[in-house]
Amino acid sequence: MSTPYWPRPTDGYPGLLPERADVLVIGGGITGTSLMHHLRARGMDGVLVERAHIAAGASGRNAGFLLAGVADSYAEAVLSYGRARAREIWGMTLLNHAAMIEAVAGQPVGHRRLGSAILASGEEEAESLAESAQLLSEDGFQATWDGQTLVNPLDGEVDPAAVVGALARQTPRGAIREGVNVTAIEAHANEVLVHSDGAECRAGCVILATNAYTPQLLPQVEIQPRRAQMLASAPNPGRLCDHPTYSHFGYRYWRQLPTGEVLIGGWRDTAYEAEVGYDQRPTDAIQAHLDAQLKRMGAEAKVTHRWAGTMGFTESGLPLVGPVDGLPNVYLCAGFNGHGMGFAFISAKTLIDSL
Ligand SMILES: Cc1cc2nc3c(=O)[nH]c(=O)nc-3n(C[C@H](O)[C@H](O)[C@H](O)COP(=O)(O)OP(=O)(O)OC[C@H]3O[C@@H](n4cnc5c(N)ncnc54)[C@H](O)[C@@H]3O)c2cc1C
Repeated sequence: MSTPYWPRPTDGYPGLLPERADVLVIGGGITGTSLMHHLRARGMDGVLVERAHIAAGASGRNAGFLLAGVADSYAEAVLSYGRARAREIWGMTLLNHAAMIEAVAGQPVGHRRLGSAILASGEEEAESLAESAQLLSEDGFQATWDGQTLVNPLDGEVDPAAVVGALARQTPRGAIREGVNVTAIEAHANEVLVHSDGAECRAGCVILATNAYTPQLLPQVEIQPRRAQMLASAPNPGRLCDHPTYSHFGYRYWRQLPTGEVLIGGWRDTAYEAEVGYDQRPTDAIQAHLDAQLKRMGAEAKVTHRWAGTMGFTESGLPLVGPVDGLPNVYLCAGFNGHGMGFAFISAKTLIDSL
């Protein structure tokens, strides 16, 4: 069993690599479909190519948490990036949430904005969360801390594959082409040559929205592929948690859908060195931890889905958004450090605005 809980978007987008494109976007996840949204908003033409189907990557395999900020707590972000930058990032991710939901224009994507709960796993995390609540309120953001749980009331949740499907549905006919595997990119002064299994495209510019998979095309880009695993249960008769819940410094997370299904993910900190690469099969070792959490929560429902996906991590903990060094007209919007649902839509806008 290696099937994500989220159904694959129903619309199909068969097609071929175009011979020419003003802008060629590679990758049909939340980033690629967000880039297409912003291109269209700017009146620019683009073609998106995806080697499998839209939402086949991490975007159709994640927990659907819409959290403000980076993966680290706000206090840690202040230490890493400075107060002003941490504040800017928090504001940017709040904007990402609102703008992405506005962009799907009322299509059903399972959006709820009931807040998130971040549970302290011990004293060290409690100190960091208490300080985060203090810093957040000083910086004008809403957060409450009760000695054990930090609640961010503006956080929320979605069905991530449905968001990708909703953004894709708004693109002009023929602008998304599934089943096109890009094998190489050659940047020249005036155009970028893109190769795919014998076909060739001459593009004005190319944007890689390939997150964890980026080093497969451009090995010089420093993005580490790190796996994450999840399970989902059948609808559970009782309510077991009210908010998307995050704990152990973000390494463990769970939520319950309004229809009762429980989704649990994480525990890669228990097999940190093994949970790397692109294999989408779940492992017994991690799944046993997820099963144990389902039991601790008091769930009666059986597990229906188990799966894994691959996230892209950067050295700085921040996404890489902008031109690729040494490759004229090739851009990158990737490296979301396990928080692409919270970052990608607004990162894509930043990139398109910079073209
Ligand atoms: C289990 C799990 C739970 C997570 N939970 C959350 C969460 O709750 N909240 C959150 O914000 N984030 C979460 N994430 C992270 C989030 O899923 C990612 O950050 C986000 O989906 C990245 O989106 P993307 O579009 O950049 O990449 P992807 O969705 O991975 O899309 C990249 C696409 O590029 C395509 N591609 C790659 N190479 C090529 C090529 N050569 N030619 C053509 N196409 C190519 C792939 O097929 C893929 O569809 C989680 C991730 C996982 C795995």
